[in-house]
Amino acid sequence: MAKTTMDLTALVRGAADIDVSERIGLLPNVASERTKHLKGRVAGAKAVTSVCGYCAVGCSTLAYVSDDGKLLDVEGNPDSPINGGHLCPKGSALFGLTVNDQRWTTVKYRAPYSDRYEERPLAWALERIAQLVKKTREETFVREKDGKRVNHTLGIASLGGATFGVEENYMLGKFMHALGVVSMENQARI
Ligand code: SF4
Repeated sequence: MAKTTMDLTALVRGAADIDVSERIGLLPNVASERTKHLKGRVAGAKAVTSVCGYCAVGCSTLAYVSDDGKLLDVEGNPDSPINGGHLCPKGSALFGLTVNDQRWTTVKYRAPYSDRYEERPLAWALERIAQLVKKTREETFVREKDGKRVNHTLGIASLGGATFGVEENYMLGKFMHALGVVSMENQARI
């Protein structure tokens, strides 16, 4: 028992001189020739600084791009004072959000009184939203109330998501005020 303890002590003392690239802890680092020549999937890729689009924390990311412009991966930016290289589970899924053949590219539309959804193109959805906004505004716009000029509509409300940046929120605010919409809410964003 005493001899074993002494042997371990000698081993630990000797560990200070171990080259960590050749060992895992106290054991030799066994690697095949194939493993020695493997490279990470972003090795040599260009790292483009970006920002996570999910929430107001504004974590910085590195988007790795191949020479032909293909997105290879998205990771936390270690130089960021906000997130120091870390991303929460949502931010960690940025690559999958962007490169994903399951991503929906059409709108699921359920017509009034229908019991099923239909696929419609995005352009169709934008046109329909525009037409409904125009119709609702024309039907609900109030110029005066109690003898005072109000110029507003209470028939439309705007709810902004967290992925909006400062500029988008500014533009949305201007647009809604121009329509006379007073019911507006946004999640904070940098
Ligand atoms: S969603 Fe997560 S990773 Fe993205 S900005 Fe917010 S906290 Fe950061």
